[in-house]
This record gives sequence, C-alpha cells and structure tokens, in this order.
Amino acid sequence: MSAAVPAWSSVAGPSTPVALGLAILIAGAAWRQQSLRTSGALAAAVVGAIALRAGWPWGGFLIAWFAWATLASRLGRARKEQRTAGVVEKGAQRDAVQVMANGGVFAMAATLTLVRGDPWAQVAVWGAASLAAAGADTLGTEIGTWIGGIPRSVRTWRPVPTGTSGAVSAAGSFATLLSALVLAAIAVAMGLVPAPQWWIVAVAALFGAIVDTVAGALVQQRRWCPSCEMATEQSRHSCGTDTRHRGGWRWLGNDEVNFVCTASAALLAWLINGAVA
Ligand SMILES: [Zn+2]
Repeated sequence: MSAAVPAWSSVAGPSTPVALGLAILIAGAAWRQQSLRTSGALAAAVVGAIALRAGWPWGGFLIAWFAWATLASRLGRARKEQRTAGVVEKGAQRDAVQVMANGGVFAMAATLTLVRGDPWAQVAVWGAASLAAAGADTLGTEIGTWIGGIPRSVRTWRPVPTGTSGAVSAAGSFATLLSALVLAAIAVAMGLVPAPQWWIVAVAALFGAIVDTVAGALVQQRRWCPSCEMATEQSRHSCGTDTRHRGGWRWLGNDEVNFVCTASAALLAWLINGAVA
C-alpha cells in the first residue's frame, strides 16, 4: 500500500474528555437497560473511549455495531431466555470478559491507530473485520435462538437444545451472513474501511463466525448436569448441581471461542488485504 494519508480515516476523534463522556453515556445506558453487567459497562466504556479517540470512523463503527447487536439481543428476549435457560454459560447481560472477547481485537487495532497517530488502512480493515465477525456471530446466535427452531450440532448433525454452542439453524445462519454484509457496509459508510475493501471485511467476518461455530462444536468444553440429565455450558448448573466435564478442551469456554472468532477474522482480513494490496 502507498504511504499516502488516506482521507477516509483522517477524521480526528473528539478530545479525551468528550470521548470518555460519550463512551460512559452509552455504556451507562446499556448498563441501565441490563444489556451489560457493571464490569461489562466499565470495559465497554474504556473500549469506546479508545475507539472515539482513534477517530470518528472507529467510534462511529463501534457505536453502530453496538446498536445492531443490542437490537438483536432485545428481539424476543423473554422467549430466548426461556429457550436457553440452564444451557448457556452466561445470561443476556455481558460482563467484562465477554466484552473483551468480542471487542478486544478491535480495541487493539484502535489503540495501534491512536498510538501511531496516523491513519493506517491495514489496521482499519482487520480491526473492522474482527468486530464485524463478533457481530455476525452474535446475530446468528440471537436470531437463531429467537426464531431458529431446533438447531443441529455441526459435530453430529443431530438436534441439540437451543443455545448449544456449535449448533446451527437456517434462520441463524442467514442472520450471520446478512450481518457480515451489513456490518462491512457500515464500516465503509463510517469511513473506517475504503469501499474497495468492504468485501474483505465481509468475507473475513463470515469466516470468523464459521470458525466460532466449528470450534464451538468440536473443541469447546461440553458439560453435563447429572441431576437434570441435560447438556449445559455452566460449571454449576442453574439447578445448583456441579456439572461434569463431558468432552472438548476444559480451558476453552464460550468467551475463548468468541476471542478466536474475532482473532481469526482479523488474521484472514490481514492476509487477504496483504495479498491484494
Ligand atoms: Zn441441573
């Protein structure tokens, strides 16, 4: 790539107090709406302030992503909580680990841009791809859980309880694909990614979401509640019983898989961008 300063990402962000204030305002609203736990809101405020300081394209893309993911998580919330009760590791409220698992790679890209003090196209493409992957994966889970019917495990292709990691439904898969395309378009609209590179963000985001599903099915740890005789991701089941390890890697939980999703998307975007540049 040329060393010329691209106009599309040279929109300076707000001052630090304004960036921090805006980030706290948005994270605080999500906390009040119970989308984020207290630790999650603190982490989101830090990531938000860094993104805004890196420039409006970074901050704008993060805010739009957050609105997109929040909207999806609120759709049919009661139905989803009922359908996944006792299965998923954590509820609808995101904690700090979940926030960093989804936004950590993006925050790293924004920090690089901030520290370097100049726009850097390569970083924007892989940063946007990582967050778009987290969004595509989130949408697939949210929409699939809401209206997806009984999902199938990609490991056994057998029906599994709604909310099981590594399981897919037609509605969820469509939402993942649509989300990757929409978020890549938003990254362009916000001026974060140049229009010719939008497809790199979309392809990498989709790849990350697929990696997430496959890792969730093949290597993420699976647990079993002996009392309820059901599969779960919780260490202590919602019934109060300690669950048993039943398969997969013990250290690989849902948060780790989400991080792998965002990191693999960033890596692929970086590789493609380097190859076509
Ligand atoms: Zn139980």
